[in-house]
Amino acid sequence: MRSVVLQDDRTLAVMEVPVSALASGYIRVRVSYCGICGSDLHMRSAETVPGGSPVGAVFGHEFVGAVEEVAPDVSQWKVGDRVVAWPSGACGDCAHCRSERFRLCPSRMPNGIGMGKTPGALAESIVIRADRAFAIPDELEDAHAALTEPLAVALRAVSIGSVQREDRVAVIGAGPVGLITALALRAKGIENIVLIEVNPKRAERAREFGFLTVGLDDVGAAVAEGLAGAPSVIMECAGHPSALPMAMEIAAPEAAIVVLGALVEPVSIDTMLILGKELRILGSLGHTPAIFADAIAMLASRAVPADDLITGRMVLEDAERAFDELLDSDTDHIKILLHP
Ligand SMILES: [Zn+2]
Ligand SMILES: [Zn+2]
Repeated sequence: MRSVVLQDDRTLAVMEVPVSALASGYIRVRVSYCGICGSDLHMRSAETVPGGSPVGAVFGHEFVGAVEEVAPDVSQWKVGDRVVAWPSGACGDCAHCRSERFRLCPSRMPNGIGMGKTPGALAESIVIRADRAFAIPDELEDAHAALTEPLAVALRAVSIGSVQREDRVAVIGAGPVGLITALALRAKGIENIVLIEVNPKRAERAREFGFLTVGLDDVGAAVAEGLAGAPSVIMECAGHPSALPMAMEIAAPEAAIVVLGALVEPVSIDTMLILGKELRILGSLGHTPAIFADAIAMLASRAVPADDLITGRMVLEDAERAFDELLDSDTDHIKILLHP
């Protein structure tokens, strides 16, 4: 089958790879669409990922498809069932997994689908654990279902931040994560939202989705004016070194700051702000199966404008070009889906 494989020179090329046999408990899914995630862009250039060097890796964890083959011991799926998959590598058996703290499972990253070691879905088909597949309802079309994973990331952050309808929410960054987070908040009935974005193109696009946006000029005052008060919740989706210090600066007393943006470098912060305002700084990483199910239901109900988020559909052979386009700060793209 054709797969998009990371080469020695860190480019992506479609290669013919052997179809692996199905172990017990596994199913093979014929991929219809797989979205490209910011983490994929990072892993293409990263020297190492959990589990080793990514050279030879097949990325892709935001996928949808139809069951093509089931192992003899699998009874809950049949050929033709349309599914998405919770792509976590969490084992499901350890103490962390049994208490639903899947992010703490040691096998979460190395065994995560498309995270460098376990082959992902930028391919014609993918083999997954049968118990990680979720059925998608008839009314949810394949392309929209490919947004389940990024929406689940956003919904988990909304849950971690315990965001309520009366909250004043600032979202830092109007890239794909920030935009989907803002849309998830709105779909949950939270209307008082301001996005902070420096890139004029991204800011303009967020306005097209109906959001109020501000830049960095006198940002605290601009956000407070937009929200009619300092933010009680801040979603840090930019992954920029200045974002967390700024969030702490503009936050209302007792605000929750939820960090979703990934940043490798360390950041220095003024801990007196945490004390003085009694801030809660919370990390949100990944999702749980329950939140994955919520994301499917939200997409099926059309509470999130999926068509407006999907800005490109390309074939696997266009993977390299699609990755480059998404890395261009001037891009018009939000989510590109690849299909075999
Ligand atoms: Zn993703
Ligand atoms: Zn585990």
